[in-house]
Amino acid sequence: MSACPFCDDTSGGQPCGTCGRAPNIGRRPCPACKKMTPLAEPACSHCERAIRSEMRWKIPAIILMFVVAFGVSVAVRLL
Ligand SMILES: [Zn+2]
Ligand SMILES: [Zn+2]
Repeated sequence: MSACPFCDDTSGGQPCGTCGRAPNIGRRPCPACKKMTPLAEPACSHCERAIRSEMRWKIPAIILMFVVAFGVSVAVRLL
């Protein structure tokens, strides 16, 4: 029986009988404490460290690349 990753409840309910969340959703190891923490949570459920979603920085990076590419194409036309 595994403990709930959110509240460490060990009753094993699906969803958890204590916090009502599904313990079997995707998890990843926390970069700070190395314990498995749920992907859906904004911060580690063990050490409270904020978990950076890979998509959260990729989307602004992709937008920035498009803006830079557009700026370069305009600059090339003006030359
Ligand atoms: Zn729980
Ligand atoms: Zn952690």
